[in-house]
Amino acid sequence: MALIVQKYGGTSVGSAERIQSVAQRVWQTVQAGHSLVVVVSAMGKTTDQLVKLANQVSSNPSRREMDMLLSTGEQVSIALLSMALQELGQPAISLTGAQVGIVTEAEHSRARILSIETNRIQRHLQDGKVVVVAGFQGITSLTDLEITTLGRGGSDTSAVALAAALRAEACEIYTDVPGILTADPRLVPDAQLMAEITSDEMLELASLGAKVLHPRSVEIARNYGVTLVVRSSWSDDPGTKVLSPMPQSRPIEGLELVHPVDAVEFDTDQAKVALLRVPDHPGIAARLFGEIAAQQLDVDLIIQSIHEGNTNDIAFTVVKDSLNRAEAVAAAIAPALRNQVPAAGEAEVMVDRHMAKVSIAGAGMIGRPGVAAHMFGTLAAAGVNLQMISTSEVKVSCAIAAEDCDRAIAALCQAFNVTSSPLNREATVPPNQTVPPVRGAALDRQQARIAIRYVPDRPGMAARIFKLLADHVISVDMIIQSQRCRLVNGVPTRDIAFTVAQVDAANAQSVLQQAIPDLGYGEITVDEAIAKVSIVGTGMIGRPGIAARMFEALAKQQINIQMIATSEIKISCVVAEDEGIKALQAVHAAFGLAGNQQIQVPA
Ligand code: ADP
Ligand code: ASP
Ligand code: MG
Repeated sequence: MALIVQKYGGTSVGSAERIQSVAQRVWQTVQAGHSLVVVVSAMGKTTDQLVKLANQVSSNPSRREMDMLLSTGEQVSIALLSMALQELGQPAISLTGAQVGIVTEAEHSRARILSIETNRIQRHLQDGKVVVVAGFQGITSLTDLEITTLGRGGSDTSAVALAAALRAEACEIYTDVPGILTADPRLVPDAQLMAEITSDEMLELASLGAKVLHPRSVEIARNYGVTLVVRSSWSDDPGTKVLSPMPQSRPIEGLELVHPVDAVEFDTDQAKVALLRVPDHPGIAARLFGEIAAQQLDVDLIIQSIHEGNTNDIAFTVVKDSLNRAEAVAAAIAPALRNQVPAAGEAEVMVDRHMAKVSIAGAGMIGRPGVAAHMFGTLAAAGVNLQMISTSEVKVSCAIAAEDCDRAIAALCQAFNVTSSPLNREATVPPNQTVPPVRGAALDRQQARIAIRYVPDRPGMAARIFKLLADHVISVDMIIQSQRCRLVNGVPTRDIAFTVAQVDAANAQSVLQQAIPDLGYGEITVDEAIAKVSIVGTGMIGRPGIAARMFEALAKQQINIQMIATSEIKISCVVAEDEGIKALQAVHAAFGLAGNQQIQVPA
């Protein structure tokens, strides 16, 4: 008899009838011989309505009282589901997070789970009951009993954490779509279902806007090797399997606070090509990377900075062997670009032959901005200047001068208490070339772009800026430094731009503003009218031409790319907010992700 954890989301328990049909499904699973722990969300849009209510009585409600309020939504649905099960003759009991003993850190509204008591659940299971647990909530300690919530969408995380703690055979997430799709079907009606996806890919997609799973639930599944499936509440179809590598065994204690970094990786075979002053115009990136792809050159990191005046800088890295050809392509294109947009002036090509890339990797970095900040601080203390930064949910990479590499690795290994390993190109190229280069696409319309002008170009500036933001628990993404240096009062400066969640933008701006006298940079600008469109797939590693195809799809729609950032398995572009959906649809179609079935999403 297997123990299974099932989780039902808000829409799936949105009415009395739907709760009854969930009860039917639970009952059938018990009839098939399984023990069951069921995690439920609040009914329908209850949590949103509670947030609205709070805002009616307070302009800035305390986070403690918000948790007190929001946690009530789940308490309603656990009781109702338990009653519906009892009505079917199935013994069941509902338990809140506190009653189970889901202990979290004392961070209201975004608490991480520290540990889960399993005794009480086990006892009820042994008595033949289905245990119905409130998702999204916990308590600070078994003596304090302060109610916490895990962050919006956090019931997925409750379910996977319970599956890990109970060593359940599987965790099944039931929702209002047939599984994980190649894009959000509400935005891309011909998105298609995937039978499986790796946890690395899902981590990226979830954090880039595919809210079908809470990213932290994927992190736990990956760390503990939980068998995770996403399925429809309305059908018996198998849904999507999220594949995790066999994990090392880990204690359940400190569940979500495990070592955030598993390894330091490095690659000394890198060279950089930068193209300065390219016109800020649709189609430029497509043209450059189209020609690079035509030469079969594989590009690793790509960044495109915010535009200064009417031009951008684009920089990318290739393996050293490819540098001469990549440089030739860039040099051949530069004059042509000027003809295309004459006012832009002459584009200039800069190369750096001796680069290295150092990375920290680990699934525990999600939502912990302090980890990247610690990396930048460590490198600054070792006197290493950061030339390019690339962030993803599971990896932060910095391109640095090759001569600094050994020092950088030693400092990082010590700082994070891990060992280092060189990048193994053979291992990173997927052996099976039938793996699609792009698994899915996502759109994030909740981001804002912050630009800091005239940041003095010396080691430690990025570290200080991102430490400051991390201290205020502001996560940043797509960090990009401009390639060209400008002298301000004799001091070389660069611009740094990055994206943050819109809800954090005002806070980030004021924190940065206050630090101007101390850090000595220029003005700070915020743009909320942006959208980030991303493609994700482990199959893009070692395959030339993927970035080019994405840029070309956007160019064909006359969509201007404002920023580009890549990691090994994702490419993200910032575009104007009102072009976001069109951009997502264009990119989705360009990689042949569309199916011929239309997914109907129930209201
Ligand atoms: P639940 O209440 O069941 O947790 P959510 O609303 O949190 O449901 O997540 C399901 C929704 O996620 C879908 O209705 C869909 O609109 C959205 N979504 C976004 N990206 C994807 C994707 N790639 N695949 C499936 N659904 C997605
Ligand atoms: N009810 C919570 C929310 O709406 C948690 C969840 O549904 O996962 O965010
Ligand atoms: Mg959800």
